[in-house]
Amino acid sequence: MDDLVALARVSAEIGSNRLLIQAAGGNTSVKVGGVLWVKASGRWLAKALEEPIFAALDLSRLTGAMALGDPACETCDAFVRADLSGSGLRPSVETTLHAGLPQRFVLHVHCVETIANAVLEDGASRVAPLLDGLRWAWVPYTRPGFPLFQTITPGADVYVFANHGLVVAADTLEAAVALLATVGRRLARPVQAAPTRPAHGVERAGYRFADAPALTPHGARFAAAGTLYPDHLVFLGSGAAHIDSVVGAPPVIVAPGFPPLVREDLAPAPLALARCLGDVAARLTPDDRVRYFTAQQEYELTHWDAEIYRHSLPGSE
Ligand SMILES: [Zn+2]
Repeated sequence: MDDLVALARVSAEIGSNRLLIQAAGGNTSVKVGGVLWVKASGRWLAKALEEPIFAALDLSRLTGAMALGDPACETCDAFVRADLSGSGLRPSVETTLHAGLPQRFVLHVHCVETIANAVLEDGASRVAPLLDGLRWAWVPYTRPGFPLFQTITPGADVYVFANHGLVVAADTLEAAVALLATVGRRLARPVQAAPTRPAHGVERAGYRFADAPALTPHGARFAAAGTLYPDHLVFLGSGAAHIDSVVGAPPVIVAPGFPPLVREDLAPAPLALARCLGDVAARLTPDDRVRYFTAQQEYELTHWDAEIYRHSLPGSE
């Protein structure tokens, strides 16, 4: 069980780094003696040392079902080892991804530096020279869960998920952590300097500034133009409103020269995703071509039982 203890320690560390993980996003796993230990749905990696967050699954039964395309692989509930798992822990929506990669340790993060590349229309060609020398693959956007795993060809150590995030995998935890750092460093995009403006006219009742970088005019425009990645949509709804076209009381308002304005009643999860949106948008440049979710992609995420469950957990809203 040393591996699981070590994974919990690393999970708490990366879960506390807002540039890697926001709220209950991301998931980590280790394979030990025929058991897959994977973060449970809706749990926060940051709390890995405070409470049980890992569900245990029978790895051979699960991978056997995956090979047959068994619909039970959508939730993976049927493969949980109840004798090992804490009660009330449902396996992560990305469990099949963790099971299907052969490496012992798998870390999936919503790395801001990766996302700032992964939302670009030409993201694959931008990332290619930066990841040269690593065994990596670009994965076109697919709805998370079993469908996403089915688009993957095992054989790489690094997967960049378009409009989503990053996966690194290795047989030792040290190697996985080192890979995570390497990719984050290579894909880093500088925060764009925003013009400073007087707060007059931007501050509004019921809102406060998020602890995030001030946005450039194009950063604010990009942030308000659509939804960029799954947790953006799941926790912030249709996204942020631009200061010039606010209707009602959206969760986030973006204005050039300022960090995102967040509604004061936001729960921890949407608040973390509002900050993340600011972190991503602050790294976009005027000539970037950004790819947003289509209406169909938004529909399949918001009508997916697993996301509805995740969104219903404490701290989510
Ligand atoms: Zn994810």
